[in-house]
Amino acid sequence: MAEKSFKYVIIGGGVAAGYAAREFAKQGVKPGELAIISKEAVAPYERPALSKAYLFPEGTARLPGFHVCVGSGGERLLPEWYPEKGISLILSTEIVKADLSSKTLTSAAGETYKYQIAIIATGSTVIRLSDFGVQGADAKNIFYLREIDDADKLVEAIKAKKNGKAVVVGGGYIGLELSAALRVNNIDSTMVYPEPWCMPRLFTADIAAFYEGYYENKGIKIIKGTVAVGFGTNENGEVRDVKLKDGRVLEADIVVVGVGGKPLTTLFKGQVEEEKGGIKTDTFFKTSVPDVYAVGDVATFPLKLYGEMRRVEHVDHARKSAEQAVKAIFASEQGKSVDEYDYLPFFYSRAFDLSWQFYGDNVGDTVLFGDSSPTSTTHKFGSYWIKDGKVVGAFLESGTPEENKAIAKVARVQPLAQNLDQLATEGLTFACKI
Ligand code: FAD
Repeated sequence: MAEKSFKYVIIGGGVAAGYAAREFAKQGVKPGELAIISKEAVAPYERPALSKAYLFPEGTARLPGFHVCVGSGGERLLPEWYPEKGISLILSTEIVKADLSSKTLTSAAGETYKYQIAIIATGSTVIRLSDFGVQGADAKNIFYLREIDDADKLVEAIKAKKNGKAVVVGGGYIGLELSAALRVNNIDSTMVYPEPWCMPRLFTADIAAFYEGYYENKGIKIIKGTVAVGFGTNENGEVRDVKLKDGRVLEADIVVVGVGGKPLTTLFKGQVEEEKGGIKTDTFFKTSVPDVYAVGDVATFPLKLYGEMRRVEHVDHARKSAEQAVKAIFASEQGKSVDEYDYLPFFYSRAFDLSWQFYGDNVGDTVLFGDSSPTSTTHKFGSYWIKDGKVVGAFLESGTPEENKAIAKVARVQPLAQNLDQLATEGLTFACKI
């Protein structure tokens, strides 16, 4: 088969790839120099839409509406933008072998691609219940959500099982967003998770109490402290029920599983240094292998603000790390350098009429402020995290753009806060003063 050769190749065609492409164009990449190779059949898009408006019965998001870079308020890169810029968008093409020493990639169909500089942007994949040998986990209508094909299958099932029952396994942001989307589609939804409260990696018990109460008021049932251990099926091989470890059995026409992800680093194992489950990079997203960069979910990079290596699986970092890597590539070609990556962690989620943002680090003591009653009409509340007398993290539900900016500033500036009671009383006013 023919071999193709490019100066730059991005492996993966998700969020980071799209933002990298835009930065390549800004930096003046020449026609024919850049290729993006993606397993997906569509041009890079804003992945977070898949668990939100993509599933809504009204105001539904569909491509080309959410191609990158609309998520950050930027120019929308439609599929035709790539050829216009002379960028090869090689879709429906999975790379199955990456030989970093000979700078050669091989696709599932046997094509080979040579490069001078590669950017690894393969993102994450979902953890499957079948990985743990859960009985019946391969039944029909058990869904995971990572790529647009997964979302299309879920949309079909929602239509086919009108007014049916769903069980959502997992209490993270995917579980919370999906159970809300199913409920909005008039599907009777139950969430199941083993932890004492939802989103335990970020939420405090107080924050979670609001969301759990709010969800229950919307008619979503929540079962905590147990896990799905098996699935029953009907004569068509479709899921019929979910067996829980505590002995309960829940009827289900649809099951959605959101139990976490893992970075897709397999192709590069043994060839590149890894750390904390990801590909180790420096502040310019350069890996241990010359001319190979890694960005987005797969990169474990120096988080300057906290003086430690971290891997961040969120869209904001995917965008910014991609831009940083491309800027660094062009700068080094001109014998120049760029500033170090100085990232402030930022996560967000939206469901129903709720919308929260979090900035910084969720370590240390916490104080809750505002109205966190699940029946509150404003539901404007938040939390600060305080470590060594400084506010290092801030969470806000239903903030205005200015208020969200204020909590971001707090997390960046890390102001002193000696008196936690006073901080709780001041609440948002504290952030707005900084
Ligand atoms: P991805 O966007 O996952 O892109 C990776 C790409 O590489 C994919 O196109 C994949 O098909 C391709 N690929 C992988 N392996 C190969 C291969 N071998 N050959 C060719 N192509 C390959 N983050 C937030 O901050 N807020 C949110 O609200 C939010 N919502 C989300 C909702 C969902 C449903 C999902 C799945 C994620 C969400 N995220 C959210 C996380 C965010 O989308 C990711 O952090 C971000 O997409 C990471 O970007 P990436 O480019 O590293 O990986």
